[in-house]
Amino acid sequence: MKKLIILSLSLLTGAFTFGQPQQRPGPPAGGTQKQEFPARMTPPMTEIMEPEVKVIQPGDQTAMPPSDAIILFDGTADINLEWQDSRGNPTKWIVQDGVLVCVKGSGVIQTKRRFNDFQLHIEWKAPAEVIGDGQGRGNSGVYLQGLYEIQVLDSYNNKTYRNGQAGKLYKQYAPLVNANRKPGEWQSYDIIYTAPRFANDTTTYFTPPRVTVLHNGVLIQNNVSLRGPTLYIGMPEYSVKKHGAEPLVLQDHGNPVAYRNIWIREL
Ligand code: MG
Repeated sequence: MKKLIILSLSLLTGAFTFGQPQQRPGPPAGGTQKQEFPARMTPPMTEIMEPEVKVIQPGDQTAMPPSDAIILFDGTADINLEWQDSRGNPTKWIVQDGVLVCVKGSGVIQTKRRFNDFQLHIEWKAPAEVIGDGQGRGNSGVYLQGLYEIQVLDSYNNKTYRNGQAGKLYKQYAPLVNANRKPGEWQSYDIIYTAPRFANDTTTYFTPPRVTVLHNGVLIQNNVSLRGPTLYIGMPEYSVKKHGAEPLVLQDHGNPVAYRNIWIREL
């Protein structure tokens, strides 16, 4: 009987522990020194070069929207019906031959709708004419809830840090493989996203955002848990803030990256 009581208490303790919200990293205990981390961090501190992501050849595939999808862009409707710039004004991105193209200096484009959990299909194309290298070549990005970037980059024979190439969750998760097509060829992302749930404060995930990505039909992110919003410099955990449904955002990184066939299913 005594063993049974001890076992029951252990299970109860385990259950309560399991139910606790996640703790984000904090400053060292007991210290009164002024915290300088991460203020003095530099970009290379979070850029991982080796080992390089394995290169594979994706198969041909297309993905047309199912009947319950919200069509965000199919090249036929006025772009300003579903999209706007970050200030709520008409976008300066252009639609040419049914394709949405980023215009350098115009800023992001974002949906008027706001989303929580979703399945997203989006197709993109880096410029056929190769200009620049590394992060300066065919760079854009798909920001889930405006905060969590899945990188769009011409990563075909274009070396950069592994957690900065196409299909990465920027500086958090490199893709499992490099499934890029050549610049100038259409590529697709199929993304399954679970939004975070928050604890009662404003800086702690109760459950973190979770992301699965297929790149040209190949699994490159397998239900990964994000540490926090995308940051160029510093540690994501330090910039977590409570949020609700947010827009889908496409990045203007100065390159004329094109998009087509964008649809979403709310989950
Ligand atoms: Mg980008």
